[in-house]
Amino acid sequence: MAHIVLKNICKTYPNGVSAVDNFNLEIEDKEFIIFVGPSGCGKSTTLRMIAGLEDITAGELLIDGKIMNEVPPKDRDIAMVFQSYALYPHMTVYDNIAFGLRRKKLSKAELDEKVKNAARILGLESQLAKKPRELSGGQKQRVAMGAAIVRNPKVFLMDEPLSNLDAKLRVQMRVELARLHESLGATIVYVTHDQTEAMTLGSRIVVMKEGIIQQVDTPNNLYTKPANMFVAGFIGSPQMNFLYSVVKEEDGATFLQLGDVRLPVTEEQREKLRGMDGKQIVLGIRPEDIMCGAEAEKYSKWGITVTAEVYELLGSSALLYFEFAGSRVTADVKPGVGEKEGERVHLALHMERAHLFDAATEQRI
Ligand code: ADP
Repeated sequence: MAHIVLKNICKTYPNGVSAVDNFNLEIEDKEFIIFVGPSGCGKSTTLRMIAGLEDITAGELLIDGKIMNEVPPKDRDIAMVFQSYALYPHMTVYDNIAFGLRRKKLSKAELDEKVKNAARILGLESQLAKKPRELSGGQKQRVAMGAAIVRNPKVFLMDEPLSNLDAKLRVQMRVELARLHESLGATIVYVTHDQTEAMTLGSRIVVMKEGIIQQVDTPNNLYTKPANMFVAGFIGSPQMNFLYSVVKEEDGATFLQLGDVRLPVTEEQREKLRGMDGKQIVLGIRPEDIMCGAEAEKYSKWGITVTAEVYELLGSSALLYFEFAGSRVTADVKPGVGEKEGERVHLALHMERAHLFDAATEQRI
């Protein structure tokens, strides 16, 4: 069991930097939760406060109902895995994994069973006699995980554990981590600055900016209902387009005015925008929600004609860059669409999937 509660947690470093501000979160037992956000937003500081490696300036940390603020790290039943593997170079893989158990007084047979079990889960059985220098980056990272696993902690804290690996290995380890979570049945708190990693790994994601939680939600909800423009821009690649527009209500109909283009809104959006005539808002549209070809015909009431500037073929699709109503826009199109610079291209915005934000507060409308 490991149920973690962070109540109004704040961290101010001695030099006056406020790294974490009023952080409130409840982490369920066996949850795989991710802290994500740009570098410096306070992810590691929060993780280190859970581990006990950093003092909590204000607020309460509870694990299974017990206040942990003053409990030393070794008594918190937590294992931490960092981006640097921190292996002992002169010791074998076996001894590196077993090292985490040194303080527990186990018989040789018990220790052997635990090490072999961790090695089996991690696919390291044939590597146990090797020294770290004989291993690949991915294998080293697995040994570091092994040292954490054998301790059978209530909670695993992982701080960017995959960021030293190359792209291919990272994808492979991502799959292994998801499987590991299943087989361990432990609570995992995982820090990353990589939104793709966050989206693929977590059951819930905490998006942070400048020490403040922006949204806590499932990957799907973060993608389809971002709470504000920061989350909307941070989650999803290429980034969501933001188009500044003005709400116009005329004879019972509602439009968005973007430069000299008028876009009708959906019924649902009309309800949300009621009474906002003349208000500046931001229309958020993801590159994949800009239609081309026959799809653009289908959504022709939201059609726009643009001039192709840059075209990048990705393989199964292409990215088209252009200017529209004073904003830089990226569209994810079919290969060949807008390939020639200067070409006029007919597209359509899939308004049913568009997002509306208050231009002043940047919050979702
Ligand atoms: P992240 O993990 O999201 O990259 P951190 O938690 O490491 O962010 O840092 C959050 C903020 O706290 C940053 O502004 C960082 O410069 C500052 N910070 C981190 N560690 C210390 C420290 N030991 N002393 C002073 N400031 C720190």
